Amino acid sequence: MIRPCYSMCVSSHLGMMIRSKLPDTGTTIFTVMSALAQKHGAINLSQGFPNFEPDPRLRALVTRAMESGNNQYAPMQGLPELREVLAQKILNLYGCQVSGEHEITVTAGGTQAIFTAVGAIIHPGDEAIVFDPAYDCYAPAVRIFGGIPIPITLHGPDFAIDWAAVESAVTPRTRMIFINTPHNPLGRAFTERDIRALEKIVSKHDLYVVSDEVYEHIIFDGLQHLSVLRSEILSKRSFAVYSFGKLVHATGWKVGYCVAPADLMMEFRKIHQFNVFAVNRPMQHALAEYLTDPVTYSGLNTFFQKKRDYFIEQMSGTGFRFLPCEGSYFILADYSALSDLDDMSFAQKLTIEGGVATIPLSPFYANPITDQRIVRFCFAKTEETLAKAAELLKAMNIHAL
Ligand code: GLN
Repeated sequence: MIRPCYSMCVSSHLGMMIRSKLPDTGTTIFTVMSALAQKHGAINLSQGFPNFEPDPRLRALVTRAMESGNNQYAPMQGLPELREVLAQKILNLYGCQVSGEHEITVTAGGTQAIFTAVGAIIHPGDEAIVFDPAYDCYAPAVRIFGGIPIPITLHGPDFAIDWAAVESAVTPRTRMIFINTPHNPLGRAFTERDIRALEKIVSKHDLYVVSDEVYEHIIFDGLQHLSVLRSEILSKRSFAVYSFGKLVHATGWKVGYCVAPADLMMEFRKIHQFNVFAVNRPMQHALAEYLTDPVTYSGLNTFFQKKRDYFIEQMSGTGFRFLPCEGSYFILADYSALSDLDDMSFAQKLTIEGGVATIPLSPFYANPITDQRIVRFCFAKTEETLAKAAELLKAMNIHAL
C-alpha cells in the first residue's frame, strides 16, 4: 500500500546499514492522506474511522471497569467472559460452535490478528494468495515472515474473483489465501459461489485461509455476511478476524479478536504472547457486558446503509460515478468524467484545493492499473460532514484540477 518513497537501506547512528525487510514500503496511504487532510483543514473522508462517538453507556462501562480496579494485565488469551460472549455471538450468527477457551483470542485490533495469523502459517518461501485491490497489511505481513505474496488482480467493473485463475496460481509452495468480505476498499461481499469455490480449492490443495471479516455487521440491501465460520470446510482451516473498533465505533481502542480451530489457535497464541501478550483490560470488561445484548450491534447494517444512501444522494451532480457498495463503510467512485489525473495526484489535489480527502485506489495493488480513475470515500461520518463534503465538491471546479 505503499509508495516506494524510502531508500532500500537506512543509515543507523552507528554508521551501519540496516537491511530492510520491507524495502519498498513507505508510510501507509491512510496515514499519508489523514495527515494531508489535517494539514490543509480538509474534510477527512480518507482514512476509515467514524467521526462520531461510541455509545455513552459503553464509555461508562469502561470508566466503571477502571474505577473498580480492573487495571492490571488481562489473561493472555483475553478475558474469559468476553470470549464466552463472542462464542455465543458466533453461534447465534453463524451456527458455529466455537470454544471461547481454546478457539478465540482477543487481539490489539484486526491488523494485529492478521499479522499473528500470518506468522502462525507462513514459513520462509511459502506463498500466500492476495486478491488485489487488497487491504494494506496483508502482503507486508507475509514478507516479514519470509513468505511471498502472490497477487491476483481483480478487474472492474465488478471485481469478481476468477476462481479458475486462483486454481492456476496455486503451486506446491502455496500455503494460504487471504479473503476479505465485506471488502475494503471495494465494498463488495462474497457470494455463495465464492465460498463454494474457496472450499474446493483449500481442500484440494490443503491451504489455510486468513479471513478478514472486520465489516461483518456492515452489509447492505438484505445481503447476508458469508463468514468462513458458516462453512464446515472453511472453519476448520481459517483464522477469522474481527474488530470491535468497527462494531462499536471505537477504532482508537484497537481491540479485536481472532477465531480459529484449537490447533491453529495454539500456534497463534504462541506468537501473540510474545508480541502483544495481553490486550487492555478495562475495554474487555466493558465490551463483555455491553455485547451481551445483541441489540447493541444488530442495527449496524441499517445505520450505515442510511449513511451510504445519504452520501450518494448528496453527491449527485458532482460528476463522481459511484460503484456498487454492498458492505463496509467505504464506497468507490470513478472520477474519469472529471479529470485525467492519476489517482494519487487527483486525491492530493482534491484534498488541498477541494477541501475533501479521499483514498486513491492504486496503492491497494501490487501492480496498479494505470488507467483506472477511482478514489475511495469513507462514509462513516455524520450527515452534516457528508453534506458539507458534497457541497464543497459541487462548488469546486474539479475539471480545473
Ligand atoms: N482501516 C482503515 C481504512 O481502511 C485504516 C486503518 C489504518 O490507518 N491502518 O481506512
